[in-house]
Amino acid sequence: MASYFDDHGVNELADNLTPEELPLAMARILLRFGFADDVWFTTMGSDRMGPYPTAKKVIEELPTEIITKEEAEKKNTCPVCLGCFEENNEVKTLLCKHKFHTKCILPWLEKVNTCPVCREEFATDDPAYEEVRKYKARKKQRDFEIDNLHFSMFG
Ligand SMILES: [Zn+2]
Ligand SMILES: [Zn+2]
Repeated sequence: MASYFDDHGVNELADNLTPEELPLAMARILLRFGFADDVWFTTMGSDRMGPYPTAKKVIEELPTEIITKEEAEKKNTCPVCLGCFEENNEVKTLLCKHKFHTKCILPWLEKVNTCPVCREEFATDDPAYEEVRKYKARKKQRDFEIDNLHFSMFG
């Protein structure tokens, strides 16, 4: 990871990152450079498989709004670029209710099926992933040791 930062001159980011901030930092880098290599996405969390893009249907159905003058006056900011939602900006609201500029969140969702702020998982178009996601949901209440499944299926 260190060499990735060094190569791109953003090592100051790496020094200060907590695990909670990692997805957001990656979303920013993705936005800044127009890409992030797969290493980024496979190191983003040991508790989940990935990366998988968010299902196209989910992306298409995200509520989209154009920021009005009144909304812009609230000075709410986009968690990815940290810029304000300005009048006439196009904004998408994820299923977890977090809001982002369309141009900031789309490149992320095309790579990763979680919210960069709260890490809520969204559906994917990957059948194997969906099977595991359903399985996880069913087993959640029983506090099942899901890591065993990860290792046997994807290890
Ligand atoms: Zn933004
Ligand atoms: Zn969220």
